[in-house]
Amino acid sequence: MFLTKTTKDLDTIIRNQSFGNQKIGFVATMGALHKGHISLIERSKRENDTTVCSIFVNPKQFNDKNDLLNYPKPIEKDIIILEEAGCDALFLPDPEEIYPKDYKELGIDLGTLETILEGAMRPGHFKGVALVVKRLFECVKPDKAYFGQKDFQQTLVVKQLVKQFNLPIDIIVNDILREDNGLAMSSRNVRLKEEHKLNAGFIYEPLLKLKSNALQMSLPDALNIACDEINKQEGANIEYFEIVDPENLKKLVSVSENQKAVALIVVNYYGVRLLDNIIING
Ligand code: AMP
Repeated sequence: MFLTKTTKDLDTIIRNQSFGNQKIGFVATMGALHKGHISLIERSKRENDTTVCSIFVNPKQFNDKNDLLNYPKPIEKDIIILEEAGCDALFLPDPEEIYPKDYKELGIDLGTLETILEGAMRPGHFKGVALVVKRLFECVKPDKAYFGQKDFQQTLVVKQLVKQFNLPIDIIVNDILREDNGLAMSSRNVRLKEEHKLNAGFIYEPLLKLKSNALQMSLPDALNIACDEINKQEGANIEYFEIVDPENLKKLVSVSENQKAVALIVVNYYGVRLLDNIIING
């Protein structure tokens, strides 16, 4: 695997040298890699000639300084994981590479996407995400870029970015990888105590039940049943839990057969934010 900190070297590696005019797949990460990240790498490898992964803990998307300071950074381990996964190139930029002094911040219009749900909880977060993804796309120049459904709202932000700037990049959204107990994999799960991690699958069962209930009873009733079950867990506080239209995240009051719907949830569990979602319909 080629490893570089600069766009110039990355360009030489993936374009001018052996790879030539081939399709490039890209997976942007903040490191502390787990099987969820690797599922994106594997899909990119299946669908492209060259796969590039980036690891960059983007300061601009952290509204909480402590979250940034405590973000896990096991870079040596990550490199081994990527090599084992057969990733072709790892881009490890320094902040100056992504945000050079003369770089103008982009005027992206995310509309309500940045102020509702996860955006409401983390002011400025999605502007920071849009900015770093735009810069990473400029550096890597991929044909396809792979994102996890786990960060559902983020996938809409990236699609909006691509649309607004007319970028010739296919955005591919991949399934959520889960632990055996149903907990969605996340780099932040290392912050859970072992006993809490073992129990943290308690969100997934109610989500599955919600999916089957949503087409059989009123949405508020189905949502209440799921909320009650999650609230029963000691240490768990629901930050938000809504059923929304997956195209624009507008809240739905009912789901018909033709209405696509997704349930988005964040549970704060002993101080760790557990982000999850399930497609209800469509
Ligand atoms: P992150 O390093 O958390 O910024 O995540 C990098 C990419 O991996 C994002 O597109 C995430 O949505 C995706 N990802 C994170 N967790 C999972 C998971 N459990 N399953 C699939 N993809 C994931």
